[in-house]
Amino acid sequence: MTSGLRKAASLAGRYLSAGKPHHAQWLITRKCNYRCVGCNVWKEQDEHELSATEIKKGLDILRDIGIVELTISGGDPLLRPDIAEILDYASERFITTVYDNGSMAAKRVETLRKVDFVAISIDSLDEAKNDAIKAVPGAWKSAMHTVEVLQKEGIRVAVTPTISQKNLYEIMDLTTYFTEKKIPMWFCLYSYDTSVDSKQLFRIGKANDEFIITDKEAMVNLCNQLIKALKKNKNILMTKKLLETLRRLYETNAERTWKCQALNQFIVIDHLGRISGCHNHNFTGTVFDLPTQWNSKEFQTLRKTYHDCIQCNYLCYIAYSLYGSPKSIISLASDQWKNIKLILK
Ligand code: SF4
Ligand code: SF4
Repeated sequence: MTSGLRKAASLAGRYLSAGKPHHAQWLITRKCNYRCVGCNVWKEQDEHELSATEIKKGLDILRDIGIVELTISGGDPLLRPDIAEILDYASERFITTVYDNGSMAAKRVETLRKVDFVAISIDSLDEAKNDAIKAVPGAWKSAMHTVEVLQKEGIRVAVTPTISQKNLYEIMDLTTYFTEKKIPMWFCLYSYDTSVDSKQLFRIGKANDEFIITDKEAMVNLCNQLIKALKKNKNILMTKKLLETLRRLYETNAERTWKCQALNQFIVIDHLGRISGCHNHNFTGTVFDLPTQWNSKEFQTLRKTYHDCIQCNYLCYIAYSLYGSPKSIISLASDQWKNIKLILK
């Protein structure tokens, strides 16, 4: 059996097993060479981080507890000198996505050959606006060049803008621009720290009035446009269900139509290996404790709390909450989320 087939068989087995988490986000470093407005990570640096050997041990544990999809981010994970070793190991075990701010991936092409997706953050087609958001001159040119290089090299690259009031009216143009070049898109949604837990795992940033989406009608229209575009555009990596859920949030009488599945369907891990259901809550142990903690009473209690939590609307957490159980995976397939192809092929 080839290593690709072995991976697919192992992933399928994990996907179909109930009572296990399927998604993990591991922020393996806080190092970052950008200074994005509203981001806290670059302001709160920590030179301590797990070694590649420790991360690999953690990855084995994640595989054993059922994780299928792994997102590696930071900071910028590609700034770690040992990133090749980490990504090789991760890619053999998970559907692996690595995030880059657009400054590093073109210099790390060989390192990225095995990963399933490289996500590049570009927030606008307007160079000046994009660079103002990243607070780094040249960020836009670098990210556009990176996308081009990765595509030419046959690496599965996707563009991932963060939707905010700053770029709300240009998201469709941005989507058309990249998807016409056959570059997939998915989205983040501008959010900020609303945590009431002073010991939250890590902070992302304080509310910034320029980014908070105030034109809710335009947001509803955007969801409608994306839902319509989905029918023909296979490169929009969102699902109808996710967009409908988002639309509901911005309609009059905003309604949350999902229950949060933090510490149930998904977990977050920081650069020191500490884990939590999501970054808004205090850590509950480390990745190395997971085998003994996963079925503990403490975790069961936390799951109930998180299930009723309505503190945040991070799009990735909503998606993980909507799609995690075996039943959801089937609905995911019927929603034609392109990731499923990786499992079925
Ligand atoms: S948003 Fe990402 S790229 Fe920007 S400063 Fe924060 S960690 Fe760095
Ligand atoms: S809603 Fe879920 S992801 Fe958001 S803060 Fe609460 S537990 Fe965390």
